[in-house]
Amino acid sequence: MIRRMADKLGQLGHSSLHRGDDDVDSLHSLASPTSSQSAVSSYHDHRGSISTQATSMSEWSTDKRGFSGLESDMEVVEEEMQLPALPQQHNRPRGVYRLSDFIIQRTLGTGSFGRVHLVRSKHNLRFYAIKVLNKERVVRLKQVEHTNNEQRMLELVHHNFIINLWGHFQDTANLYMVMDFVPGGELFTLLRRSNRFPDPVAKFYAAEVALALNHLHGLGVIYRDLKPENVLLNADGHIKVADFGFAKRCPHDDMDALGPSKVSFPVAAFSDHAKDLIMKLMEGDPSKRYGNMQHGAADVFAHAWFREVDWTRLEAREITAPYLPRIAGDGDASAFDKYPEDDVSATYGLVTLDETGHLFPDFEYTATPQ
Ligand code: AMP
Repeated sequence: MIRRMADKLGQLGHSSLHRGDDDVDSLHSLASPTSSQSAVSSYHDHRGSISTQATSMSEWSTDKRGFSGLESDMEVVEEEMQLPALPQQHNRPRGVYRLSDFIIQRTLGTGSFGRVHLVRSKHNLRFYAIKVLNKERVVRLKQVEHTNNEQRMLELVHHNFIINLWGHFQDTANLYMVMDFVPGGELFTLLRRSNRFPDPVAKFYAAEVALALNHLHGLGVIYRDLKPENVLLNADGHIKVADFGFAKRCPHDDMDALGPSKVSFPVAAFSDHAKDLIMKLMEGDPSKRYGNMQHGAADVFAHAWFREVDWTRLEAREITAPYLPRIAGDGDASAFDKYPEDDVSATYGLVTLDETGHLFPDFEYTATPQ
């Protein structure tokens, strides 16, 4: 099905994107400067003229659920003075959660230290994803700092294209992070089924990723784990970047002075503009690397491959996504691979010897039996 979609898109070239199985929408433009980071403010001349149409699903998105009412005016203490100051709205009050607030439904994904479950709140009956990390394993694999970073970075971030963290807690054995459930599955799965994305589809996802990364960089956060498995699709087909296990705040990006000596692109799979941008992002000399030069991310936004992108409308999710996940209803996780459940969730909340909890000071012990 996806392949058929991809073929159609290929035939239609840059003028169409496809939603779901049958209906073909006109290509929704991706163009004009982004508002929040203003990195592209001087690039109006690249604005494209492709027709646009707001997605009918965009209002449906779960992350509209209540951000505005949750924002706080809490003070943010900067640990490192060189880092960009954090806008106050990035620090939101978090709910106090405990394991007994949720009914675990199934596993959505697994990682080295634990798994991510689809859960349902007993209180509001909504679905969430909870990432469970085994503390002992995190310590053994020397991932304490990464894990604390993950929670802290997610706490900072509030963006349409980045996963939302509602809260976090621990019990004697595990750490828990409560996130929005992103039901459309991994971009990896869509890519695998499609074999490859037609150029406009690749451009759509790349442009949304560029906005997400630009937001992070504006907060002094580097992500460091970009891959299709970590790009999830929301119900409206827009992306949510997940897994902040390698993210950290950093006064200046860790600049790797190595670039690839040679890159071979599959014949005819990439447009010349796409290849050009990839090579510019992989430039070995950090002072010539796109995104790291005088104009920062603006060079990326203004690149010819993104010429028709309406960045403002894209950031507002006003551009219809190329693929609309088939979701039967709230809590439908059929877009995710099935994992053996192994009764692992039965071990959550059991009282065990706890020698490592102090290493995770931001995770409250709300789950301990009262
Ligand atoms: P992670 O360890 O954060 O990479 O998560 C492992 C896998 O769990 C991901 O690749 C996704 O398939 C799934 N996953 C993680 N977070 C969510 C979420 N908020 N909603 C739905 N699935 C998720």
